[in-house]
Amino acid sequence: MEMIPIDIDKNLGEQFSYQINESQSQYPVLDPVKNKEVYAYVENIRNQLINSDKIKYKDQFPYTVKIIQDDNTLNAFCVAGGYIYVYTGLIKYVDSESELAGVIAHEIAHAENRHTVKQLAESYGTGVLISLIFGSDFRDLINIGQQLLSLKFSRGDEKEADEYAVEYLYDTPYDPRGVGGFFKKLIKEEKDHNHIPDFLSTHPASQDRIDDINSKWKELGSKEGDTSTEKHREIVKLLNIQK
Ligand SMILES: [Zn+2]
Repeated sequence: MEMIPIDIDKNLGEQFSYQINESQSQYPVLDPVKNKEVYAYVENIRNQLINSDKIKYKDQFPYTVKIIQDDNTLNAFCVAGGYIYVYTGLIKYVDSESELAGVIAHEIAHAENRHTVKQLAESYGTGVLISLIFGSDFRDLINIGQQLLSLKFSRGDEKEADEYAVEYLYDTPYDPRGVGGFFKKLIKEEKDHNHIPDFLSTHPASQDRIDDINSKWKELGSKEGDTSTEKHREIVKLLNIQK
């Protein structure tokens, strides 16, 4: 990966975020002007996380936040090069700010560890990847873009993203086990309703995964953090007022 310049991630992210902006029907962005408090809330979580010393690319990646207005989709993702997208369905689903921070931290970890570019390099080869991204054939890139969203990371990459999420959270006021709490809730959901939420189709949750998150937390020193739910409930209330 050291051989692949970080500009690849940045360029890919720029083009990809442009495509998302152009697809308002598929990715309807929640109006930032009418939903200032909700954006401020999620952006504050982002700020807390990227303040961690463990974030390597805070000066190179923009780490912009967009909220997708779709209550039926329980998902969040962070495109290569640091563009964060959070669905209203996810915000309404989680119980606390620390759980939401956990999911965002996990997604940031995918960008920081360059998992998308790593996978593309494995599929297309480094040479092809570089020529595609710095070349002029935008259409090829759109095809890659379609694949990116359904991209499934390897188990190893997921584990890595979970562990980094705990590390980033450790440097914030949030409880570092936030992402584990979210997975716990998802597993229960799957059992109770016998359907698989979107996040689970790309992020298989298991007790092993929660155990790994807890071991990482213990390894770092078992610091407990904020798990309060009040502020989060207020934000969900605001989201429920039709704007
Ligand atoms: Zn993941």
